[in-house]
Amino acid sequence: MHRLPEIDGGNLSLAQGEVQSAGAPQRRSVSDQEVDETLNAALRRIRPAATQICHEMRVGVCTWQFRVSSNRSMNASAGANGLIVVNRGIVEYAANEDEVAMVIAHEIGHQAADHVATGRRNQAVGALVGAVLLGALGTVASYNSGVNVTNSAARTGANIGGAVGRVSYSKEQEREADYIAALILYRSGIDPDKARGFLVTMARASGRKETGMLDSHPAGPERIAGWDQAVAEIRATNGRLPQRA
Ligand SMILES: [Zn+2]
Repeated sequence: MHRLPEIDGGNLSLAQGEVQSAGAPQRRSVSDQEVDETLNAALRRIRPAATQICHEMRVGVCTWQFRVSSNRSMNASAGANGLIVVNRGIVEYAANEDEVAMVIAHEIGHQAADHVATGRRNQAVGALVGAVLLGALGTVASYNSGVNVTNSAARTGANIGGAVGRVSYSKEQEREADYIAALILYRSGIDPDKARGFLVTMARASGRKETGMLDSHPAGPERIAGWDQAVAEIRATNGRLPQRA
């Protein structure tokens, strides 16, 4: 874990006002080809700096496999073996390629900081909880029907619990992934201020409680304020990695 700047009250209230006055998130309609091209172009721009930063950090996974999901919700994820999945919804809602680059850089941040290993421990806990809950229901079913429902119900429960558990990174890990993302953009010559609009879009979407949005990522004014402070620090240090906590 790196030492990250404290969130300042002034930055937070600015971000709150900004989210409140922002318009509703706009979804564009994009062809499959445009989705692929945008993701590839964004990735090409950030990959060299991202790889360099990952090696400087020396803790996480620096060989990544990218997948596009046809899911239209505004989300992306980092999983085992360097897997990074970006929903097409990210491209549909992004105002420019810099915003898409930020989302990819954030997921790379989870990989580079080795959050996925912790996430997998969370997944094990989630799987256990799911199995216990649905296993109990299964017992009733098998009692009534006399067939072996318990096992399959417990298995289904384990899968559901696992799916929920898999995406639970801590708030601190999310902030660290954002910091690394800002650093990746900065070193790639992308202005972090141009990418930041996506955080406002996400905060706005999350405030409106639109379905399927960002169930796995915090999206609020705190995240925007944290981003601004990360960017200020990165500019002041000319793109150095922060010290370890
Ligand atoms: Zn995240």
